Amino acid sequence: MSYRQSPWSLTDLFPALDSPEFEAGFKSLEAQVAEFEKLRPELKSDLDVERFMEVVQLAEQNTKLAYRLYGYVSLAFAADTQDQAIQTQMARIQQFLAELENRSLFFSLWWKGLDETAARRYMDIAGDYRYYLEALRHFKPHTLSEPEEKVVNLKNVTGVGALNTLYDAMTNRYEFKLKVDGKVKKMTRGADPELRAKAYQELYRVYAADAPILGHIYQTLVRDWRNENLGLRHFANPVAARNLGNDIPDEAVQTLLEVCRRNAPLFQRYFRIKARILKLPRLRRYDLYAPVAKSEKAYAFDRAAEMVLDAYQAFHPDFAKLARRVFDEDHMDSEVRPGKQSGAFCAGIVPELTPWVKLNFQGKADDVATMAHELGHAIHGMLAEGHTAFTYQACLPLAETASTFGEMVLVDRLLAEEKDEAVRRDLLFRQVDDAYATIMRQAYFALFEQQAHQMVAENASVDEIAAAYLENLKEQFGDAVELSDEFRWEWVSIPHIFAVPFYVYAYAFGQLLVFSLYQQYQRQGEAFKPRYIKILAAGGAQAPAKILSEAGIDIRSQAFWQGGFDVLAALIERLEKLA
Ligand SMILES: [Zn+2]
Repeated sequence: MSYRQSPWSLTDLFPALDSPEFEAGFKSLEAQVAEFEKLRPELKSDLDVERFMEVVQLAEQNTKLAYRLYGYVSLAFAADTQDQAIQTQMARIQQFLAELENRSLFFSLWWKGLDETAARRYMDIAGDYRYYLEALRHFKPHTLSEPEEKVVNLKNVTGVGALNTLYDAMTNRYEFKLKVDGKVKKMTRGADPELRAKAYQELYRVYAADAPILGHIYQTLVRDWRNENLGLRHFANPVAARNLGNDIPDEAVQTLLEVCRRNAPLFQRYFRIKARILKLPRLRRYDLYAPVAKSEKAYAFDRAAEMVLDAYQAFHPDFAKLARRVFDEDHMDSEVRPGKQSGAFCAGIVPELTPWVKLNFQGKADDVATMAHELGHAIHGMLAEGHTAFTYQACLPLAETASTFGEMVLVDRLLAEEKDEAVRRDLLFRQVDDAYATIMRQAYFALFEQQAHQMVAENASVDEIAAAYLENLKEQFGDAVELSDEFRWEWVSIPHIFAVPFYVYAYAFGQLLVFSLYQQYQRQGEAFKPRYIKILAAGGAQAPAKILSEAGIDIRSQAFWQGGFDVLAALIERLEKLA
């Protein structure tokens, strides 16, 4: 069976944007929500348990139809961002869904407000909905009254919302001018060391010029986070508010960050190897992501698909079978076309439909790895398809498990089969570069965020925060990397720490988890597979710590996280030998 690149088919959702079925979808959803609103007077603490389950199922049906409509329009948009009809529908669906959400809000507020005994009566019979209902109630001690919540929402639009829009508007119009020998050059992290240095210097020259304003925006966002989450909602510390959303215990996050910190020397070792390959006495921060590639091996699409499916087949035939569903049902759009959104994703819309995968496949080794990655997401979704619409999507810290694991399965197979040493070296370098960017870099961002939130509470200035950031980098790189002063402004260029405080540790969590799982796989072979499948098949139907503990993993233990670093250490040792 050979596969060709073609646009995906969305007919499993709707026949066309201008079809009667699509319009009927809007009408049905409107009618369903109107029916749902009529349930409001029934919501009392003595509501019959069976009636309660009917209410939850109605809420799920509304959610599913909303996902189908939104999924259809957003997938169409990803395939053609320039089409005006799609753009119009995109704005329409966003507005429509926001209104419907407000009209249904009464249910979750009632549910969170119930006392423990009443809630338990419903949860005991809730089956697969149980964790969804339980997780909503985690926020009970941190939820304000309905009018207060409304004021917070309203003020957020013109408060933190507006500040983040302002940050985006400012930083998106920055122009970076790179001139070499009087000629304007493209900004790049590419092969020329002088250009690399100049590109970073120009980047932070522009950010530093606005640092007083960007830093002030950051301080204000941090104060708002503290006022709301510590002052009004009584969270114990700034990270706790994020941890509860991820449903990860505070101690687990602290342990993860401590173990990362202890392993900083491991990546320093890697940077020394990289310096040797690039023939530099010491790696400069400018050279961190410099390509070492000697090989420019290209892969045809059908060959790439075959390699990825073979790798999954060798791991477990069910994985290959599920991945094939994406191809066979025409749910993959892999071509590069004008107007198509760049990058790659996998979108699971509702549990009963095969997820859709978007790639921009151009035949590079990276593109093959990305194919394995996105198909891993799809496999994860399909393994969990038995759950409800509320419980099948894995929560953030587990969301990258099957994707990253799938990439490792592929790379291992390629390493075993590849005869060309240069290609093998490139594969390994790429893997460790990625691991650095997702683990250590993000962990140190999270450590910086904790420090910065504390400093702002103690009225630190923007310059003082920047000095603390530079110290954070010095600890991370030790003497392995030469750090120039302009990197003190890097933090004002990271949108995540502005828009979603403490989001970044989830990246380190996910990647280290996969390394640890992979180590178990290497040690246990076949015996590991059923436990791994169980983790994936759980989807988002249980707390992440519970899903993992049933597979024998304790995310509060240092040893578990260290296991992830041990896998990395082995990779780095291989590189030391190849270099
Ligand atoms: Zn992913």
